[in-house]
Amino acid sequence: MRAYERLLKYVSYSTGSNPEATEVPSNPDEFIFARDLAAEMETLGFVDVHVDEHCYIRGTIPANIENYDGPVLGLIAHIDVSSAAAYTDIKPQVIHYTGGDLVQDAEKGYVVSRDDYPFLTRYEGMDIVTSDGTTLLGADDKAGVSEIMTLAEQLQADPAIKHGTIEVCFTPDEEIGRGSDFFDIDGFNADVAYTVDGEAFGEVQGETFNALSATVRINGFSIHPGSAKNMMKNACRIACEFDGLIPDSETPEHTEGYEGFYHLIEMKGDVERMDLDYIIRDHDFALAQSRAEHMHRIAEFLNSKYGDGTVEVDIEESYRNMIEIINEHPRLLELPIEILKEMDVEADTSPIRGGTDGATLSFKGLPCPNIGVGGHNFHGRKEFAVVQSMDSVVELLIRLVQAIAKEPKTL
Ligand SMILES: [Zn+2]
Repeated sequence: MRAYERLLKYVSYSTGSNPEATEVPSNPDEFIFARDLAAEMETLGFVDVHVDEHCYIRGTIPANIENYDGPVLGLIAHIDVSSAAAYTDIKPQVIHYTGGDLVQDAEKGYVVSRDDYPFLTRYEGMDIVTSDGTTLLGADDKAGVSEIMTLAEQLQADPAIKHGTIEVCFTPDEEIGRGSDFFDIDGFNADVAYTVDGEAFGEVQGETFNALSATVRINGFSIHPGSAKNMMKNACRIACEFDGLIPDSETPEHTEGYEGFYHLIEMKGDVERMDLDYIIRDHDFALAQSRAEHMHRIAEFLNSKYGDGTVEVDIEESYRNMIEIINEHPRLLELPIEILKEMDVEADTSPIRGGTDGATLSFKGLPCPNIGVGGHNFHGRKEFAVVQSMDSVVELLIRLVQAIAKEPKTL
């Protein structure tokens, strides 16, 4: 079976994770997919397959090298999909793409426009899986799941491919940032791992943002506006003043590449009290921290103007750039980059402008870069995956498991 055929099957499970839920998995339907996946794993040569109470699916592909004592490789993908767009009743279609706009539904005018997404030209002559334009596709990350499963199938079919022990974990709720919460890192016997969860084929990513979150509380004082002179302290207006002191050029809409930002994600309240939620992101931890300090300085300035305790800023760390850990294991990035070169593909190692479960796992002791799955436009109705790219990802994984097996245990 080719990887995209599995994708077509897997997208029929409605596994959108629910940010409002407090339990993991956040959507009970994730269990339905998990159990079917576990059953399929049993047929593909995995041993010790099980689904735990939080919907983590684990299985091991035993080494086929006698007395194997090289590194144990982990492969990780997530079974939930984003709920940022409609994710139920997905109707996938395979389109042979010959150029121009990728038409999802001609009648309704749903297209992935070539002008908006010029990278489409790369895929002329290839086959593309997309939805009918009314839902997302769910290639993030069911393409990754499909590729790992297809790898297993190919390893089972061809014992001439010599590989070490491979530990696989499919996780729930990655899209709502909880994919690593109940990840049993001690039970997962891998020395190193990859998340198969990026976009285009060829992406090899070892860098994420450093992430801080800031909650800002403005304590105002409300009084009848008719008798407010020299008395009222309007928290709404002070909130505007606070945000006005955030550099406009350091916001998501004005930054790219290695540029970090402040992002005001929510503000709510009234004259008496306002709550502002920000996130701070930067690949450089010192720069992220200097943004945090800048917010404290704004608070100090406004407190000197409006009185002590008017503005309170509380900053917490969410996750760190995994490059700090990955740099201690340089072969982890070098190997896929070398293999891609053999496949005549130049690796794209640009930093992720976000986080991954791999970032959290890296800091928990499992270094874990990310590999692209062969898809684009995730989390929306214009999402698609490329059939041939997915085949190439499987090929990359086949070469990677063989290469890792030749490395020393302490990679
Ligand atoms: Zn993902």
